[in-house]
Amino acid sequence: MDYVKLINCMRCGMCLPHCPTYKETFLETASPRGRVALVCKVQEGELDKSELLLEYLSMCLDCQACASACPCGVNAGELVAEFTCERRAGAGLGFMEDLILRKLVPHPDRLETSMVPMRLYQRTGLQKLVRKLGILKMFPKPLERMEGLLPALPARPLRREIAEITPATGTERGTVGFFLGCVMSLIFSDASRATIKLLSSLGYKVITPKNQVCCGAPNMLAGDLAGLKEAARTNVEIFGGHRIDFIITDCGGCGAELKKYGHHLDGDLMAEAFSGKTRDISQLLALHVDELRVMLKPLPPKVTYHDPCHIAHCQGIRREPRELLKLVPGLEYRELAEADACCGSAGTYNIEKPEMSDRVLLRKVDNIRKTGADYLVTSNPGCLLQLKKALAVELPSLRVVHLTELLLMSLNA
Ligand code: SF4
Ligand code: SF4
Repeated sequence: MDYVKLINCMRCGMCLPHCPTYKETFLETASPRGRVALVCKVQEGELDKSELLLEYLSMCLDCQACASACPCGVNAGELVAEFTCERRAGAGLGFMEDLILRKLVPHPDRLETSMVPMRLYQRTGLQKLVRKLGILKMFPKPLERMEGLLPALPARPLRREIAEITPATGTERGTVGFFLGCVMSLIFSDASRATIKLLSSLGYKVITPKNQVCCGAPNMLAGDLAGLKEAARTNVEIFGGHRIDFIITDCGGCGAELKKYGHHLDGDLMAEAFSGKTRDISQLLALHVDELRVMLKPLPPKVTYHDPCHIAHCQGIRREPRELLKLVPGLEYRELAEADACCGSAGTYNIEKPEMSDRVLLRKVDNIRKTGADYLVTSNPGCLLQLKKALAVELPSLRVVHLTELLLMSLNA
């Protein structure tokens, strides 16, 4: 860990009003400034890595809202994640982590097969029965929460049905590689299908390599740096074998990770080129506002936008999604208060820290309610899972969709 990054904190407190856990607790130990101080004291040998210290640090969502607010460039979320990652890396992978991160996640075929029981569980009506009878209450809480988050799964993962090459519609203007995120392909395949359709409609040939693997973000979370580098090397090699102008992703979490491949692979030139070509879909679509203005057809709903942390704070993308939504004729855009505040999903945080996750989520839901919107748009699978579940209960008339789904609705209107 780079000690200089820690001592850059001048304790001004400008990050405090932006930190979701501080806003909920008003505790210094739950603030970015407090977390940086704790890690700093450990590095200086004045504090032990006690369970209590780790518990304090584990409350951080790694949303990086503090980094956006800090005038000194301190990224408390990243520093805490790095600290935790180094500690976990020292402990090695447990049996289940090894099974999931090494034997399942890097193998798309196996990952897809592992979802078959869930698909059967939903399609046979068993899920409805289990929920109606409250059977899950007899299982550990994390399992009940995980089950509750699962939306209706598509019949097939997108990777299995999408052609490796989708031709451009009309005159070809370029070629892009499409990065299929695991969750996007397995769960939100309609959104990624919409992404590919928009790209092709704008004249891009889309190459979707079937042998691409997970971006490595789950490895990073678990401190499995070897697994992360392996994922990065595999993807860099696969996409490097194609002549493409951009690598496009519609998953905020994947985009944030792909843009760091150059760093993860220690400045390897191919990895740097890969990261340099990576764009969130909103960044590419925003290059074509003039064409889209002509192509998009009227759509009347009131729409609001939630900034995923991995898009707003980690990639600095805020203008593009809003600009694209405002292109839709007739659409009434309503800005969301605290739009770039975390929704409480944060990887597996909503399973591991349910109480704080729910508090953060409740604030988000209240702000969404105040907009009076018919649609909530966002662009990250974690946010989609979290907000779809909560809003189905709290605001059943509101629909939660990915940015590309809403744009495609307008294209097809
Ligand atoms: S992390 Fe940045 S904003 Fe927060 S107290 Fe330190 S210097 Fe100030
Ligand atoms: S990453 Fe988020 S939760 Fe963690 S300290 Fe920063 S603002 Fe707070």
